[in-house]
Amino acid sequence: MIINKYPGYQACIGMEIHVQLKTESKIFCSCSNKFGDEPNQNICPICAGHPGSLPSLNKEVVDFAIMAGIATNSKISQTTTFARKHYSYPDLPKNFQITQDNLPICHDGYLIIDLPDNQTKKIRLIRIHMEEDAGKNLHATENESWVDLNRAGTPLLEIVTHPDISNSQETKAYLTQLKRIVEYLGISDANMEEGSFRGDVNISVKKKTDEKLGIKVELKNINSFKYMGQAIDYEIERQIALLESGQKIKQETRSWDSKLHKTIFMRSKGEAQDYRYFIEPDLPILQINEEWINRIKKEIPELAHEKLIRFQQEYNIANYEADILVSDINLANFFEETTKFCKNPKLACNWILRDVLGFLKEKKLDLKSSKITPNLLAELLIELDKETINSKVAQEIFLEMAEYGKSPIHIIKEKDLSQIGSIDDLEKIALEVINTNQEQVKEYLSGKDRLFGFFVGQIMKATNGKANPKILQDLLKKHLK
Ligand code: ZN
Ligand code: MN
Repeated sequence: MIINKYPGYQACIGMEIHVQLKTESKIFCSCSNKFGDEPNQNICPICAGHPGSLPSLNKEVVDFAIMAGIATNSKISQTTTFARKHYSYPDLPKNFQITQDNLPICHDGYLIIDLPDNQTKKIRLIRIHMEEDAGKNLHATENESWVDLNRAGTPLLEIVTHPDISNSQETKAYLTQLKRIVEYLGISDANMEEGSFRGDVNISVKKKTDEKLGIKVELKNINSFKYMGQAIDYEIERQIALLESGQKIKQETRSWDSKLHKTIFMRSKGEAQDYRYFIEPDLPILQINEEWINRIKKEIPELAHEKLIRFQQEYNIANYEADILVSDINLANFFEETTKFCKNPKLACNWILRDVLGFLKEKKLDLKSSKITPNLLAELLIELDKETINSKVAQEIFLEMAEYGKSPIHIIKEKDLSQIGSIDDLEKIALEVINTNQEQVKEYLSGKDRLFGFFVGQIMKATNGKANPKILQDLLKKHLK
């Protein structure tokens, strides 16, 4: 980690995350809030910013904001207001954005992030506020641009931390945790590549002995966890190098160039405009009472970090295994469903982490679009548990099941894959193999132990892989004397 090269310095990183909410309709009108439609299909005079049109607040957005507040240990404001933030840009038809200024809906929360070696750290949240997104400019040719207002008026939560984060690793831990929270709450798809989870970073460095924070640089428009980490590492080193050579840090906005592998200057903060915030006169002051908050509290599902602890206790699986399972709520649910049917959590966990994830990765599929279901996997694992099949055959059946959605029991019958577990049957085959390979028997008996595997292989070949491996080994040990 970069900062270790300069032990006298400390980086202070704050994050502003914009989370796009997956409500039915937009925040101030009843237009559909759907991604991927034809340009300008989902617009009306309100979100297109026609003069005289009046916004009215979507209650679902407030519900989602309260949910996010509760899940991040934030205080929910009893009184919250909207404000206009003025700037002009082609994708912002009103020339102002409706957001929240000094009375945000949530404030003073925190998250406890997990770090290596069972360390944790508290990251304080300054605020969470509601706001509308702008539209999108589409640059067709060098001289021609189009504006798509489908995204205008899409609800966002902006989640702002104190500069409590110290390095790229903590940034990643914070983002991972926040992303899981909004996914588990079901309030956002939180897809960084599609722009429903966007992060800006403020970074400053200072000598550890300094009380005051250094001058901060903003990193904008970084759309992956990986680039975010690289940009932060680079920026910390750039700033420390400047200070070490006696130069000053300039307050500016920079972006990450993934080809040049460095942050590049975008604009100076000296040029930043005054947003002339004032209270939004077309929306009433919003009062949120205890009753409303209590109703939302009851709707909050089990969150990822709670599931992580429960999985380890209830199913006796390792922390790193549970962590992979809960990293995706669909995978966590898939595991619990499978376990409910096959009653062997350890086996289910092993098969999901190795075979299911391996298959999905190879086929570039996600769980939902694959043909693997908890019922099918459980059916296979029950047969494996009962020793109807051995694990090598189970893997073959799994691949066919995963590819075509076929029932494992059906495949076993169809291909006659049941394991040969009868000692009498296997003993005949074993003796035959021993008799026809006398050369190898001699070598084995003179101390070439690895030849044991040769005999196992021969019997497996003779049984098309269906021999019960344990019985087979016992038989070989008995006769190879
Ligand atoms: Zn609209
Ligand atoms: Mn914002």
